[in-house]
Amino acid sequence: MSKVALVTGGSRGIGAAISIALKEAGYSVAANYAGNDEAAQKFKAETGIPVYKWSVADYDACEAGIKQVEADLGPVSVLVNNAGITRDSMFHKMTREQWKEVIDTNLNGAFNMTHPLWSGMRDRKFGRVITISSINGQKGQAGQANYSASKAGDIGFTKALAQEGARAGITVNVICPGYIATEMVMAVPEKVRESIIAQIPVSRLGEPEEIARCVVFLASEQSGFITGATLSANGGQYFV
Ligand code: NDP
Repeated sequence: MSKVALVTGGSRGIGAAISIALKEAGYSVAANYAGNDEAAQKFKAETGIPVYKWSVADYDACEAGIKQVEADLGPVSVLVNNAGITRDSMFHKMTREQWKEVIDTNLNGAFNMTHPLWSGMRDRKFGRVITISSINGQKGQAGQANYSASKAGDIGFTKALAQEGARAGITVNVICPGYIATEMVMAVPEKVRESIIAQIPVSRLGEPEEIARCVVFLASEQSGFITGATLSANGGQYFV
């Protein structure tokens, strides 16, 4: 069986940790990214993991990108839908563009990536689709109606698709991280960060590697009985 993993947004933040962990677990990994060439080239040089540039918000670009990855590495057996953005605003000030950009990337992106890969996974009777949602898709977050809706959508998408994939040997699962120490979170003022940490029972932010380990676990052939699951990794902050 091919051990090829494709990680969207795989060259920075949580995605980079996922790409590295999958490589260490023996996968041939392709890391997709959107536009930050400098970070992607640095990541490639440091890890030896090939990087591929396209937007997950563009279906045609996803099809073409996947074709290239499969030509280079072989059939993709593990897809990690990790690419995600925020365009925060209180709802009364939220623009249609802010709503659309976030839905297009975080939710439509999961469709655009999973759909072109689905038939191949069905034909080969094996696949792993793992989507990175968020605690804010579970509980909702003021100032993030767009983001919370997109991430809640990822959970519904996962639950429906898990039922369709089950007989074909494809598992579909979603991970909901809490606050993780990525550039985005470390960039918020220290005082704000301290108030965030005060709400987390384990009294610290999560590490990208802790989410990556969840992905490696769900990607494994031995995890075939786990499908349609929502794995919360949030330091005890919120559980459903
Ligand atoms: P980062 O902002 O650090 O990295 C985002 C990655 O996604 C980058 O590689 C970026 O590419 C890529 N990306 C963004 N838009 C697109 C697009 N349209 N097409 C392809 N790639 C794209 O994010 P994080 O590592 O913090 O977050 C990763 C995931 O985890 C996201 O889905 C996020 O919502 C989720 N999450 C994060 C939490 C956190 O605390 N950090 C908490 C809960 C969930 P490029 O480098 O080119 O910009």
